[in-house]
Amino acid sequence: MKATIVYDNTVYKKGLKADWGFSCLVEGEGAPTILFDTGTNGRILLSNMKKLSIHPSTIDVIFISHYHLDHTGGLAVFLNENTRAKVYVPPSFHSSLDSSGITLKVVRGPVEISNNIYSTGELEGIEQSMAVLTGKGAVLFVGCSHPSMKTILSTASQFGPLYAVIGGLHGFRDYKLFKDLSLICPTHCTQHKAELKRLYPEEYIEGGAGRVIEI
Ligand SMILES: [Zn+2]
Ligand SMILES: [Zn+2]
Repeated sequence: MKATIVYDNTVYKKGLKADWGFSCLVEGEGAPTILFDTGTNGRILLSNMKKLSIHPSTIDVIFISHYHLDHTGGLAVFLNENTRAKVYVPPSFHSSLDSSGITLKVVRGPVEISNNIYSTGELEGIEQSMAVLTGKGAVLFVGCSHPSMKTILSTASQFGPLYAVIGGLHGFRDYKLFKDLSLICPTHCTQHKAELKRLYPEEYIEGGAGRVIEI
């Protein structure tokens, strides 16, 4: 599995643009190509994608973690470039996109959305996370981690042993919950990156637009 951070508060690869928001491309052999969240600004999203040689038409699935602008803002502009992608949203997602011919797939409970790709379902009425099952375990993608991390991890662990967490962790401080993870990439809105890096120096991976993580 290969994850490429396309949109982030910071830049990892020179030439890309940083902006508050998150979007990550997830690719795997025999699996659909997924765009996890769409950042805030569609023009920045498409421009960063272009610089990373990612063509919008190659994306099969869009997975929206939650209805906050920094995760959904790029969606409408992206869908101008790709009208065939299936868009998975949590029930709390409100949108006028329904009328534009795009079919939104509303994810309710924990569910397998494609082979080895799972949603936790919307937790605490706000956000879903995505787990990709690999040979090493489940790689968990989180938007902002608005629900408690304990709930996110315990829901996701039903899909397989957790290997990695990638995405925004907001004010997460219950650090011991990560003791069994092998890879931690806290980025976007994560407030306590330095503490995570200090506690998990081997597992910690710096995020930022352009960062590629292969598992
Ligand atoms: Zn949010
Ligand atoms: Zn966010």
